[in-house]
Amino acid sequence: MSDEETIGPEEGELTSDENDLAFTDLPLVPEVQEAIDAIGYETPSPIQAEAIPFLLEGRDLLGVADTGTGKTAAFALPILTNLDPRGGGPQALCLTPTRELAIQVAEAFESFGNRIRGFQALPIYGGSDYGKQIRGLKNGAPVVVGTPGRIMDHINKGTLKLDKIRTLVLDEADEMLSMGFIDDIEWILDHMPEERQTALFSATMPPKMEALAKTMVRNPVRIAIKPEEPTVELIDQKLLYVEKKNKDALLASILQDRTLKKALVFTQMKHVANKVVKKLHHAGIRGTAIHGNKSQAARTKALADFKQGRVKVLVATDVA
Ligand code: AMP
Repeated sequence: MSDEETIGPEEGELTSDENDLAFTDLPLVPEVQEAIDAIGYETPSPIQAEAIPFLLEGRDLLGVADTGTGKTAAFALPILTNLDPRGGGPQALCLTPTRELAIQVAEAFESFGNRIRGFQALPIYGGSDYGKQIRGLKNGAPVVVGTPGRIMDHINKGTLKLDKIRTLVLDEADEMLSMGFIDDIEWILDHMPEERQTALFSATMPPKMEALAKTMVRNPVRIAIKPEEPTVELIDQKLLYVEKKNKDALLASILQDRTLKKALVFTQMKHVANKVVKKLHHAGIRGTAIHGNKSQAARTKALADFKQGRVKVLVATDVA
């Protein structure tokens, strides 16, 4: 559309330190201001400074921003501010590619919304009990965050009603596209109220994503954020050449280092993740695998074991 605005810093131009906007300059409701103050956020990150005013006005948004830029608060804070206290069902729906992200985004909503009376953000994802999700929906959770397949199920069952939804967020849209959720998302969009606000966030905007995004938004504001500090600069990278038959032994010898407290190993395939865990086990190293074939409970447990140091190595496919 010709009247789109593109907003966004040139590389390295705007960082949270240089931007002198404070959260208190943004017209967020006091409950939200208090919550972010308690969490300890001081200044809005660039995507927050740029997106929040437009989202508060009800504008559609196409945001090119990766994880780590603060995009969750960028969409959550305006949604919380614009909530209708009279309630009566979900007012915002947020779609995420994975169950883990659904949980994380719902938790972020709950922490930003914990001073709003009765506020609840309900995560809805596959592989988990319908009963609890249906009870949460019946209780009228104002924000629902979920993966496309299970959201479709609830729309079909009539347990998720979309008539009061005013804002739709697509988080990590490029991931959802590459995971093959396109038909599900289009189906969900067909069932959404015409009059709504749509915010789409994606780490990348290849032409296919761009074309799809344009069918979902109306006269959007565009915001592009470059990550402030690429993680690679903080990581010492090494490349080791090894014959395939020696790969497991080399990995075990690297991980046997006692000064190493925690390690994350990525594999491309789910069965290879399981195999690596077994090989490490034989070498006396405690590891656990996390991938899409595991139940949600097993995935949650694997993450908790790793976080709390019960296992040293987490072997993951890119579900992580
Ligand atoms: P996200 O990109 O939404 O996944 O957020 C990345 C991390 O930055 C999370 O741990 C947030 O809690 C944190 N964060 C988001 N916004 C701010 C802010 N304005 N100030 C400090 N930390 C923030």
